[in-house]
Amino acid sequence: MTAKLIKGTEIRDEILGEIKQEVENIKTKYGVVPGLVTILVGENPASISYVTAKIKAAQSLGFKEIQDNQPEDITEQQLLALIDRYNKDDSIHGILVQLPLPKGIDEKKVLNAIDPDKDVDGFHPVNVGRLMIGGAEVKFPPCTPAGIQELIVRSGFETKGAEVVVVGRSNIVGKPIAIMMLQKAANANATVTVVHTATKDLAYHCKRAEILIVAAGVPGLVKPEWIKPGACVIDVGVNRVGEKISEKTGRKVAILKGDVDFDAAKEIAGAITPVPGGVGPMTITMLMRNTLNSLKFKLGIAGT
Ligand code: NAP
Repeated sequence: MTAKLIKGTEIRDEILGEIKQEVENIKTKYGVVPGLVTILVGENPASISYVTAKIKAAQSLGFKEIQDNQPEDITEQQLLALIDRYNKDDSIHGILVQLPLPKGIDEKKVLNAIDPDKDVDGFHPVNVGRLMIGGAEVKFPPCTPAGIQELIVRSGFETKGAEVVVVGRSNIVGKPIAIMMLQKAANANATVTVVHTATKDLAYHCKRAEILIVAAGVPGLVKPEWIKPGACVIDVGVNRVGEKISEKTGRKVAILKGDVDFDAAKEIAGAITPVPGGVGPMTITMLMRNTLNSLKFKLGIAGT
């Protein structure tokens, strides 16, 4: 292997350590800690495991964590009233509603009811607008793109003037990371191209990329010959391609593959993220950082 492996788990631990230290400092100086509420409706096993991971992370950092589990038959009105209560609760700085919500509840309506200043997922239209404007306007960059940016920067890649190609234009990954890398700001200031299913020559664009970010959800889409030698390759894709028996637990687990042909690409790229263990561990970490920042905005100490 010639490429440097960008280990999301190591960078995650580094950032969690920084957050924990800040939480302790703020607690000592101001007597408050970040407060996060996770609202889980129903008993979808995947949602339970996502929420549990978020709760564990928040608790390990010394946050106040409220786990608000609601029954499957909660009405939209009741859910909106619950959100309103947390919007008004001064000890809560981040509100997270785990998706998907049961049929009959309008997800958009529910997410848009969250106070934009507590929307630590960063999906509220107000926060999308802030992200587009950039600079000091930005409060909560969406978590996966924020994690991608950290992976690039902390791996030592220069973003200023870099040719960045983003494969995919979803609202949760492709579009926001493209906007973030485009901003005239530190850790960004790149020349950005976004490609998608209507792009005429995907290979041509990928080959130009000094930083290639792939978020298509198609296993092995990016071929090794599409990679510029020495490029930084961030593989966001998480694709279930089968099942295997875990050696650790003896239970069936999913076999996961990224959007890049990792084994061949690692011989050409300068640095590459593995799947799993690359972008994945960063998402919850960025959620924690957004929650900490929400408190810092409230205290008037953001940016310090
Ligand atoms: P999505 O909403 O399905 O969007 C996929 C994007 O890729 C679309 O813009 C689509 O183009 C484009 N695309 C798909 N096939 C393509 C092809 N053959 N050539 C060019 N472009 C193509 O997916 P997403 O939510 O952004 O997620 C993408 C992947 O990242 C998934 O595997 C997902 O599981 C993973 N993911 C991982 C994390 C994490 O924390 N690690 C977080 C979020 C997502 P069109 O717009 O033209 O359809």
